[in-house]
Amino acid sequence: MLIDKINYDRLTPMMRQYVDLKKENKEIILFYRLGDFYEMFFDDALLASKELEIVLTGRDAGLDEKVPMAGVPHHSASAYITRLVDKGYKVGIVEQLEDPATAKGIVKRNIVKIITPGTLVDMEGKDSQNNFLLSIYNTKDSFGVSYVDITTGEFNTTEIINSNNIERDLIDLIVKVNPKEIILNKPIEFKSFTSYINNYNIIISYVDIDNLDIKNLIKNISGKIKRYDRDFFMEKMFSIISSSMLLDYIYLFRNDTLEHIDNINYIDTVRYMKIDAHTRENLEIHKNLQDNSKKNSLLSILDKCDTPMGSRKINSWLEFPLINKSDINTRLDMVEYLTLNQDKIEKLSATLSSIYDLERILSKISFKNANARDLLNLRNSIENLPVLKEILGTMDNKHYHNLYQNFDTLENLFNLVNSSIREDAPFVITEGDIIKSGYSEELDNLKYESTHGKELLLEYELEERKNTNINKLKISYNKNTGYYIEVTNSHISKVPDHYIRRQTLKNSERYITDRLNQISEMILGSQSEIVDLEYKIFSTIRDEISSNSTRIKLVTDIISTIDVINNLAKIAINNNYTRPIFNDENYFRIKDGRHPIVEISMGINEFISNDTVIGKNNKIIQIITGPNMAGKSTYMRQVALIILMAQIGSFVPASACDISISDALFTRIGASDNLAKGESTFMVEMNEMSNIINNAKDTSFVILDEVGRGTSTNDGYSIAKSIVEYMSKHNKSKTLFATHYHELTDLEDILPNVENLKVDIEESNQDIVFLRKIVKGKTNKSYGIEVAKLSGLPDEIIFRANTILESINDNQIVENAQLNFIADKNVNIEKDILIRELSDIVIDNMTPIQALDTLNKFINKAKDV
Ligand code: ADP
Ligand code: MG
Repeated sequence: MLIDKINYDRLTPMMRQYVDLKKENKEIILFYRLGDFYEMFFDDALLASKELEIVLTGRDAGLDEKVPMAGVPHHSASAYITRLVDKGYKVGIVEQLEDPATAKGIVKRNIVKIITPGTLVDMEGKDSQNNFLLSIYNTKDSFGVSYVDITTGEFNTTEIINSNNIERDLIDLIVKVNPKEIILNKPIEFKSFTSYINNYNIIISYVDIDNLDIKNLIKNISGKIKRYDRDFFMEKMFSIISSSMLLDYIYLFRNDTLEHIDNINYIDTVRYMKIDAHTRENLEIHKNLQDNSKKNSLLSILDKCDTPMGSRKINSWLEFPLINKSDINTRLDMVEYLTLNQDKIEKLSATLSSIYDLERILSKISFKNANARDLLNLRNSIENLPVLKEILGTMDNKHYHNLYQNFDTLENLFNLVNSSIREDAPFVITEGDIIKSGYSEELDNLKYESTHGKELLLEYELEERKNTNINKLKISYNKNTGYYIEVTNSHISKVPDHYIRRQTLKNSERYITDRLNQISEMILGSQSEIVDLEYKIFSTIRDEISSNSTRIKLVTDIISTIDVINNLAKIAINNNYTRPIFNDENYFRIKDGRHPIVEISMGINEFISNDTVIGKNNKIIQIITGPNMAGKSTYMRQVALIILMAQIGSFVPASACDISISDALFTRIGASDNLAKGESTFMVEMNEMSNIINNAKDTSFVILDEVGRGTSTNDGYSIAKSIVEYMSKHNKSKTLFATHYHELTDLEDILPNVENLKVDIEESNQDIVFLRKIVKGKTNKSYGIEVAKLSGLPDEIIFRANTILESINDNQIVENAQLNFIADKNVNIEKDILIRELSDIVIDNMTPIQALDTLNKFINKAKDV
């Protein structure tokens, strides 16, 4: 039933109100408050009944047929909302804005809150993941990009200006942030953007920016963000606008301040190692290529943090590897200290693991969603801070000492919660039993009154038993009747006149008296006051904590840093890593390097380590040949991962590692295709290649795996060769290039900065054994058939394949390519020969005919050269 097609005039007033709202908010699922339920109608109802598995009913709306309706009870709505938002929908909460009892006519209703994937606060069970909401201020040739995780308060911004490839820079950033929702001022027309949005099902919202007056915007931001450096941001115009867009969006329908979002962090992209989105994917830094989960990613190896805050931080370190040597060494110094003082690791771990996710608790507090249990969790976490500080105090190292000095143990907040919140406080905060006695005099007085009332009640019961001579007279309470006196039928005759009968049961009668009413008012009245007051006190405590957000966040940052460092130290010891050192001479020298992920999946000592020397003696491009499955790809990734690990401040899988700092990592790996994204494999390959050629510098590290594979052999070979020639002349990046074009190895003799490596194998008859060792030299055979043999193909096929191979060896395309190459190289030699032969001719001894013949011969020769 389409909402636009229905007969509006016939609708009931309530349904008209609904339809009016819905027409303005078509893309939002409206949760429409009716009594104790949130109802959905029309298409929303159909969708919700399917997605939430709730019953679809109908409601009379004044039309011929009922309109589809589905609803959820208001007290359990949040679970349903979370489910819808998790699936990528936006939900709008429509509440009654007036009291139905006093409203004239139809009760006013409106949207009071919109919940979207980026503004979902309820992140139960997703502790270690960020949930970013990202905004882009799009001016076509520049972008301001800001992103916030409202469940932790992390708020970052950056600008993409003066970029030579703005599309790529933007998409790289988006992939890195991995937002759940994006806010735009106007559409972004890049193909890569559209396909990303579609692939990951990301919600896009548009906002208007009506005022571009920077002063005004800064004022707007400063009003919401406490730690905001106006002077610094004055020049970051694009960032100001995107941040303002973001803040307006999260403050929509909100008047109070979100205290935990108190700081905007400007990310200066030139201060970090560049790793584009493809390289990130290819190196499986955060997710594996198989199922996009964290399993078997570098992150999974490097994240054994004790707190969710640490897990989020190591993830962000992997997103932003450093390029400043002293910053990296600070981290490494700290890791090293712990590897040398291992007793501290255990102690830190024990303390850290009893600290809850303070960032998430703080966000709940700031959103006024936290209950008493959350405050107890906060207190229990804070309780560990002095212990943590004490451990830091015993660490004889200037970096830890700095942390020690800045470490705020939040004692007053501990005392606040500890003195106020009952240990057995319930989850609900509106039914009392939250506040400890002794915390509030007013509350204690009320409670005294209530207890006193209960004492009076007992006295009154005894008195009445005596007065009436009814031993079994009993005073009881139930919700409907309140307090009453109960007398069994056999004693009814003794009931005095002033007893007022309330209820007759089968075996007894229930009465009230004036005195009983008096006492019960004392008890019940103070009880409801108690509940109200407890809620009020609780809210004040919660707000008090909220107003300390900045302090909590500062210490949280220290805690997560210690957690990450401690984690890296633990891993370094367990996995037998070594501390990298950094040279300024633009070379890598790695001894016994290992692939951090493959070695773990293989079991102890099964992985064969390899040395790497590149950049020394001017050999910057290494061409790696070897049969399929020999270990080329693994080796190249291993070097890239070691570089990356070193630059986040981690120890590395090697026995020694002396490297220069890389400004960027580039990879072009395999024939992984983006068919889903509508690009052909070869096109992707060439796009990647052109990105590398345009951006890789002499301080960049590049791995090229089988470049050229995606097209015909001749084309592929020609492109591969010209790429190596070009890079050796222009980019001069340290480059590992694995290839199945053995002919490329001839470049070693021609280009001074190119050298050949191969993965060693042992050959016996027609069998090969993989040795997994990278050595100098080249392979000039592809061993395809030998490898096929290892796979268990029938002997008949292997035998026949060998026969075919021999028969076609002479006219195969690859051979043509090889001949071309040789011809290419021989041109100069042939010219030399020609010249020498010419100068050797002695004309005097020739007849004219002989001379003409000779001349003719040389003309033909010259034509061939
Ligand atoms: P290539 O790129 O030469 O075809 P890969 O790098 O894909 O070969 O390696 C193939 C397999 O060999 C890997 O999946 C891994 O199991 C194994 N392997 C590679 N390198 C090593 C090594 N250094 N030590 C042990 N096994 C290795
Ligand atoms: Mg390979």
